[in-house]
Amino acid sequence: MQTIAEARAQAQAGTATALAERHFQLIAEQDGPDGLGIHSFLALSRERALAQAARVDELQAKGQNAGPLAGVPVAIKDVLAMTGAPATAGSKILAGYQPPYDATAVRKLEAAGAVLLGKLNCDEFAMGSSNENSAYGPVRNPRALDRVPGGSSGGSAAAVAAGFAVATLGTDTGGSIRQPAAFCGVVGVLPTYGRVSRFGLIAFASSLDRVGPFTANVSDAATLLTVLAGQDPLDATSADRPVEDFSAALARPVEGLRVGVPEEYFGEGLDPEIRAAIERTLDGLRARGCELVKISLPHTRYAIPTYYVLATAEASSNLSRFDGVRFGLRSSESQTLSAMFRRTREEGFGAEVKRRILLGTYSLSAGYYDAYYRKAQQVRMLVARDFLDAFTRCDVLVAPMTPTPPFKPGEKVDDPMAMYLADIYSVAASLAGICGMSVPCGETKDGLPIGVQVMGPHFGESTMLRAGLAIEQMQEKM
Ligand code: GLN
Repeated sequence: MQTIAEARAQAQAGTATALAERHFQLIAEQDGPDGLGIHSFLALSRERALAQAARVDELQAKGQNAGPLAGVPVAIKDVLAMTGAPATAGSKILAGYQPPYDATAVRKLEAAGAVLLGKLNCDEFAMGSSNENSAYGPVRNPRALDRVPGGSSGGSAAAVAAGFAVATLGTDTGGSIRQPAAFCGVVGVLPTYGRVSRFGLIAFASSLDRVGPFTANVSDAATLLTVLAGQDPLDATSADRPVEDFSAALARPVEGLRVGVPEEYFGEGLDPEIRAAIERTLDGLRARGCELVKISLPHTRYAIPTYYVLATAEASSNLSRFDGVRFGLRSSESQTLSAMFRRTREEGFGAEVKRRILLGTYSLSAGYYDAYYRKAQQVRMLVARDFLDAFTRCDVLVAPMTPTPPFKPGEKVDDPMAMYLADIYSVAASLAGICGMSVPCGETKDGLPIGVQVMGPHFGESTMLRAGLAIEQMQEKM
């Protein structure tokens, strides 16, 4: 893996164009079936990348600053709109769709000098935890080719881990940035809800969806977040909050930081090697002068059912726009309009997406709304309040990111409940709207990556990133 500083130095010593070409070559050699078969990319945006690289080279030749990401090769999860490449959301129903505009997050990266290499594989409409739900085929974990990379942003995590891109964008609705980051041994950040614009994101569950970065280290994550954050007139849910310089905030030491340890995250089902790695991390934080505080988040056990009621309800509504009329696929053999709608959706959506549309439509229907949807909204408040209470007693929370190390393809695909439980430690933060991140904290004896989760209060990214940096630095010493 390469850092932003290393990539910038290379783009300056040589050219951004040469650096982009080297990345395209690496992708050509290793991402496809004739290489390692990682399959992290669904499309390359060569023309756009080389035009941007030429722009950066021109500015740098004149001695001008081309931005904090000048010449840095990045790539984008295929749920974000970007001109110059198709957008599929990992679904057949969007085959052939070319977005006519850029997502705000994409536009901001390019404005900061980044070179956009292409679009990354993901679970269909970001629904999944293993990337096995992509209509275009699964992604392999570069750290262990016989394992899944996690999901739904599996391509985004894998592309950084394999060194194809220096940083990538993913999205996280219930864990899809943090869990694949943990599985692939990279850093992944879930910004506070509202911190980063969702404009141009193909919606899954709008009250939960967030856009965030994958990077090789914590300092790069701070750089990306500083570029991405900020209110956007095109997204009414983006927050009117001043954007801090998250990189500058990293300089402050963690001494005296109150680190909450939520007991509910250390129960049954946690892999013993992961438990040991998290305990080592907590000891390391204590050794650096952090105060460890025991915390209880009593509604944690309701987070998975609550998430799956709300996320599916929102998905059933959001996905109604895919009807064969406006975007992508249209079934050709229908005599009537309603048959065309039905056939397009029948042919275009995969099994998991259909399952969720059915579940969500059910819980929103007149007879069941109060029992399921409204009840889940109420429980969501209780889950959120647990965190608000906790953050009166601690500055950050530190917990396992995943209950198990990366699993093998096929292990959970036929058992949706087992797959949903892969998110047991990630969905509560999603429901509460707080920020979170996964930081590598060691490996299992078989060499599989382990991630630790750091969670911070709403708009508490600076403190969260500082704790993340301390954790990263203790790995270097181990
Ligand atoms: N794995 C979870 C799901 O399938 C989370 C997905 C996500 O965060 N996009 O819904």
